[in-house]
Amino acid sequence: MLQVTPVRAFSDNYIWLIHSPRDASRVVAVDPGDAQPVEGLLASRNLELSGILITHHHGDHVGGVEALLARHPGIPVFGPASETIPGNPQRLREGDRALFPELELAFEVLDVPGHTAGHIAYVGHGALFCGDTLFSAGCGRLFEGTAEQMHDSLSKLAALPAETSVYCAHEYTLSNLKFSLAVQPDNEAAASYLAHCRELRARDEATIPSDMRQERNVNPFLRCDDETVKQAAEAYAGRRLPSQPEVFAVIRQWKDSFR
Ligand SMILES: [Zn+2]
Repeated sequence: MLQVTPVRAFSDNYIWLIHSPRDASRVVAVDPGDAQPVEGLLASRNLELSGILITHHHGDHVGGVEALLARHPGIPVFGPASETIPGNPQRLREGDRALFPELELAFEVLDVPGHTAGHIAYVGHGALFCGDTLFSAGCGRLFEGTAEQMHDSLSKLAALPAETSVYCAHEYTLSNLKFSLAVQPDNEAAASYLAHCRELRARDEATIPSDMRQERNVNPFLRCDDETVKQAAEAYAGRRLPSQPEVFAVIRQWKDSFR
């Protein structure tokens, strides 16, 4: 199983450090929005930064890339083919792979547009690094893509094996679960997951990673085919919603204004 260390950044971001299975002191950073906490963890744990993976162009995901490259010149950087990313990354799209042969790490790339137009996700070693596309019990806002695109992207991720560990980029789980239970009040898996996550957060522990089995059970954005979710969306919209993308669009809009 992949060893992954979280680095907290800003108010609720996670920068993930993926350890090489061959040499656990060498790590790849995912979405380093800020160099300083990464450097702090590298120094305190005596780790060597050996690569960078980027999922999309937002500043809280790429803001630390240039400072990290200045201190660790020549390390490989991978990013989405159709977005402008600092550090001149190798540009990847679906079907490509991010390879770190020396580290014995390899990731498949999926195109997951919706939050941004060129957002990509990395899948490998039983783990998914999905940036701001899928969150635990939620999903990213639609800044550049359509609801239909995001629904397709999430469906692609939901089709990954149930035991896939889900490493998203923000600690939003508690507020997402409150919304999830507003949409599906009788979802017992969501209620018990909320109780579990409240305990974790009370101890200041991360709720991430989740796994795909849990997400399929609790995440309303992956459950647009569920009759309860559909009926709740129709009641909110005040009209029939014959297709899953329409259900998705309504609950995404509902979440945007949910307090
Ligand atoms: Zn973002």
